[in-house]
Amino acid sequence: RAKSAGGNRFELADAEADARVITRHGLTTALPAALERSEFFIEYQPLVHLGDGSVRGAEALVRWLHPQHGVLGPDRFIPLAEHTGLIVPLGRWVLEQSVRQARDWRERHAGTATAPLRINVNLSPCQLTHAGLVQDTVDILQAAGVEPDALCLEVTESALIGADDDLLKPLRRLAEMGVDIALDDFGTGYSNLANLRRLPVSILKLDRSFTQGMQQFPADPVDLKIVEGIVSLAHSLNLAVTVEGVETGAQAEQLRILGCDTAQGWYYARPGPPERLHDLALADATT
Ligand code: C2E
Ligand code: MG
Ligand code: MG
Ligand code: MG
Repeated sequence: RAKSAGGNRFELADAEADARVITRHGLTTALPAALERSEFFIEYQPLVHLGDGSVRGAEALVRWLHPQHGVLGPDRFIPLAEHTGLIVPLGRWVLEQSVRQARDWRERHAGTATAPLRINVNLSPCQLTHAGLVQDTVDILQAAGVEPDALCLEVTESALIGADDDLLKPLRRLAEMGVDIALDDFGTGYSNLANLRRLPVSILKLDRSFTQGMQQFPADPVDLKIVEGIVSLAHSLNLAVTVEGVETGAQAEQLRILGCDTAQGWYYARPGPPERLHDLALADATT
């Protein structure tokens, strides 16, 4: 351990580092029991059609209600779950809950004018390499009686950079079944744009950093050009574009003009309980 000759600055830094290690370690060892004790829950954030403002579905975002630390966001524990392999059963649980939720929304919406709601679920790279992914997904959809086209699996761009055929095979099988695959956080991974043709994806989720560039009106001209280019490339490859992190009406308007298809962000709704999505979508149908 490096200690400073004078003062306690380094000792303080050490103490903080120790506390972080303990928390990390504590959280990691608590994960399996947390899954058994149902300490995880899912919030849903609406996906809104930019053309007509209607709710088309939602993204499932997992949280952990920790008995001591309160609600923890996924950035606090998903990396730990990936590290220990718990992400596989945790991810399966999220998928199962989300698909059931989608069925519930769809049943309650039957007979209304709204398009059937769809569910987006995030997949970790560890789940992609897990041999059971395709079968688990098929089983979960069948058990819930939900059509594959109700489901969109989100995979980050960085998880697919340099992906070989073995990694893409399960995604291809899912895509052939009718499950949509979205490339999440697109634009942050420096991937080769030509590479997109090789991937079995049908949706690009443009990273929040691009949306932030649309904060001023008129937006930064360079940001505008970049987004315009991405949208036209995506559309020419038959990919739909979803934008993340829309916080203002000006951003929504700008992104709509640029041709983006779907949006998600605090401007529409924060992630929340499933009933809220039902209410939002139903409000659409009746107004
Ligand atoms: P993501 O998939 O890119 O999800 C979008 C994140 O942006 C969410 O953070 C969401 O709450 C946040 N967000 C939405 N709208 C806005 C906005 O207008 N402004 C700002 N500043 N943020 C907004 P969250 O819930 O903390 O999730 C973080 C990441 O954790 C997700 O990023 C996803 O990669 C991962 N994650 C969440 N749930 C799961 C899961 O079930 N499995 C796996 N493997 N990863 C998950
Ligand atoms: Mg996502
Ligand atoms: Mg994202
Ligand atoms: Mg993102």
